[in-house]
Amino acid sequence: MDLDLERLADRMHVVSLPLATRFRGVDEREVALFSGPAGWGEWSPFLEYPPEEAARWLRAALEDADLERPAQVRASVPVNATLPAVEPARVASVLARYDGCRTVKAKVAERGQLLADDVARIAEVRALLPDARIRVDANGGWNVDEAETAIRALERFDLEYVEQPCASVEELAELRGRVHRLGIPIAADESVRRAEDPLRVARAGAADLLVVKAQPLGGVRAALAIVEEAGLPAVVSSALDSSVGLSMGAALAASLPSLPHDCGLGTGALLAADVASPPLVPVGGAVSPARVAPDPALLASLAARPARVDAWRARLAATLPHL
Ligand SMILES: [Mg+2]
Repeated sequence: MDLDLERLADRMHVVSLPLATRFRGVDEREVALFSGPAGWGEWSPFLEYPPEEAARWLRAALEDADLERPAQVRASVPVNATLPAVEPARVASVLARYDGCRTVKAKVAERGQLLADDVARIAEVRALLPDARIRVDANGGWNVDEAETAIRALERFDLEYVEQPCASVEELAELRGRVHRLGIPIAADESVRRAEDPLRVARAGAADLLVVKAQPLGGVRAALAIVEEAGLPAVVSSALDSSVGLSMGAALAASLPSLPHDCGLGTGALLAADVASPPLVPVGGAVSPARVAPDPALLASLAARPARVDAWRARLAATLPHL
């Protein structure tokens, strides 16, 4: 891997992608893309992430740009629709963006909202899609008591699983014991960020399955090894990536020996503009794990402002020593 700052900066393209629906508190998503001998790689740690953390995301991006991807065992990756914490009246229009998806992941526990808002949102999903699998994602927003109350209130909608109901591994383990009799699996997402996390989650009995992302775990190869070692079922997800990053996630999903759940790689549908033409969005409820190359005209038209490009170059310089 060539880690020379100037040469890497020359290979880096920073784009700002407008979102169709406000998500994670932002209206636009900045990502950096690297061209390389094997293809394109995406580096898109959220802006608040420190260099030590951003370094794992950078390793993933450079690996994907520089090296051929591991062998794949499936040619298509089924994905879920992702529903932000919108009001019930907007649920149908958001879900309409996802072609053919049979699973919906709905955000819950949004700051400033009540459990009643979550119940109303999930009820609307169930009314619109009687046969869908519905999973909810609290992003760690509940304490153990709140999570137990919420799960009991949402249980009647037949949940596939509850993702990161509480913030800590200890809370997840306690909650899992409490709701065990309801038969609703618990998934760990934010608790799985570094290579050592999945084993900790598994040992603590904190989750029934893991949500894994290629970038924070340091790339497709590292993520494959981590999933194997943890011994829990995995759902591959993304972090509001461009089509390039989604393609890296799809490559990970396509290489996993077992893929029992639909993956969170349909979030391209949340973008109002993307770097690839056509963008990597669900078709028939699935995405392809083939490589995606940005369209040069889109790279140019979506290019971030010069001050933001400078900020990403500074970020690259600060991150490289941690690689
Ligand atoms: Mg999540």
